[in-house]
Amino acid sequence: MQEFGIIGEHLSHTLSPKIYNTLFKKHGVDAIYKVFEIPNDSFDFLVKDVVRDLKGFNITIPYKSQIIGYLNISSPDGWKIGAVNVVNDKMEGFNTDWRGFKESLKDLKLSGKYALVMGAGGAARAVCFALKDMGLNVYVINRTKKRAIELADEFDLNVGMPSLSKIAIVVNATPLGMYPNVNSMPEIDLSKLSKKCVVYDLVYNPRTTKLLREAQKIRLRTVDGLEMLVQQAILNLRIWSLNELADDLKKDHQWIYDSSLKRTTAK
Ligand code: NAP
Repeated sequence: MQEFGIIGEHLSHTLSPKIYNTLFKKHGVDAIYKVFEIPNDSFDFLVKDVVRDLKGFNITIPYKSQIIGYLNISSPDGWKIGAVNVVNDKMEGFNTDWRGFKESLKDLKLSGKYALVMGAGGAARAVCFALKDMGLNVYVINRTKKRAIELADEFDLNVGMPSLSKIAIVVNATPLGMYPNVNSMPEIDLSKLSKKCVVYDLVYNPRTTKLLREAQKIRLRTVDGLEMLVQQAILNLRIWSLNELADDLKKDHQWIYDSSLKRTTAK
């Protein structure tokens, strides 16, 4: 049996095993997708053993940068972003976070040239990379301003809050609103955004966060974090040469939304 998995520090809320194991079963693939929680102080000690027999794996918070030191090769986008979230059996690393995010916006016409990203962690890096790639002028704000400045210097972004009325897309790249803190959201006056603005929350548990609920109340377009997760999973399956499963997931992923809705705890 082939083994795949996800490596991270705290993984109790990950949807990945559900997605991949359901597809393995449906397509009769003799494989299993497991969860590998590694404590922060043991990563360097344990990671080689954990990955040795894996056919492919995902890597998440807080190890997306650290794993690069263990790869045989990283894709150019992995190098540029400084983070890798998927690895194949040749220990080649890729970043499908940014491509999944970009793919999730494919059918939305953005109105304007400015984007606001709230947060400056690993996910924000991928999002900023994607938005720049889409030709947008990106502003970044973060609780720790120093990190926003560092990110802005690296990717040629602006730091601070721009005039909200000219923003085409606002992205929450912080865990604010994520279970169990479902009543928190980033500080932003949604009423000042243009009516055509898209509000995107990377959080997917719950699917409809407080930020998205507030945006929907004033009829703004919203996108939830599951969109990016699904698009990223399609790309990951292709990297693992599981193209039939990728095609299936591309055609039909409503079941992920249905099962995740049962996990939603926001009121
Ligand atoms: P990360 O690297 O730990 O970064 C977290 C960011 O959020 C940092 O900028 C941090 O600010 C900020 N932050 C954390 N707690 C905060 C608080 N209480 N108030 C204000 N800002 C706060 O995490 P990440 O990997 O970027 O993930 C961020 C979110 O994106 C998570 O909810 C994750 O689940 C989600 N995500 C979703 C997908 C998807 O496919 N949908 C993919 C990746 C990540 P400081 O710099 O001040 O610490």
